[in-house]
Amino acid sequence: MNIEAYKKLLEECNAKKVTLVAVSKTKPVADILALYNLGQRDFGENYVQELIEKEKQLPKDIRWHFIGHLQSNKIKQIISFVHLIHGVDSYKLLKEINKQAEKLNILSNCLLQIHIAQEETKFGLDENELKTIIGLVNEADDEMKLKHINIAGLMGMASFTDNMAQVRNEFKYLKSLQKRYSTKQFHLPFLSMGMTADYTIAIEEGSNMIRVGSLIFGERESQ
Ligand SMILES: *Cc1c(COP(=O)(O)O)cnc(C)c1O
Repeated sequence: MNIEAYKKLLEECNAKKVTLVAVSKTKPVADILALYNLGQRDFGENYVQELIEKEKQLPKDIRWHFIGHLQSNKIKQIISFVHLIHGVDSYKLLKEINKQAEKLNILSNCLLQIHIAQEETKFGLDENELKTIIGLVNEADDEMKLKHINIAGLMGMASFTDNMAQVRNEFKYLKSLQKRYSTKQFHLPFLSMGMTADYTIAIEEGSNMIRVGSLIFGERESQ
């Protein structure tokens, strides 16, 4: 772990009103607790099973961010305690989250994941799909309303490349979507973009939530 790097990053985030999500995937509970003891509360995980195991062992006031690709059949395992689901990329998934949240009578906070990278492999919606989902959510009659979902913003991952001009353009594009689709009635306050390699650019382009792992916890073994 790199506590000095964490403190520096936290200071920068505080100064710029950016939420720092410490991505603890693959890292042991002891590391999370060490950071918790420094005051960190937002942690990100991308595997349901791993998240469940960690949640059991750690303090209950941790805000868990699910940043992976969530499968419908696993929603109910994490929905009761997860703070924010970052990677929602279909209306079907949104409906399923709503259904499970309804059973518990809770409000589930979600971000819509947008495909901004050049790579084929990254998940996410394109602009048309985003527009469709927002339309469905806003225009639904009372019966169809997803009353247990709060769409709190957008999330995206830039291309894995050394071409920082390209990364910047991808973040600019995501920011522009946030602006375009936020209205008085329909807010998209959170913009989750930026990781270890590109968080500086992400913040410059308007991110207010970064997801940083290896800078804080050190490199991961490949999963
Ligand atoms: C792993 C991961 C991160 C953190 O990546 P680092 O490069 O270690 O900062 C951020 N976002 C998502 C979606 C991830 O899967």
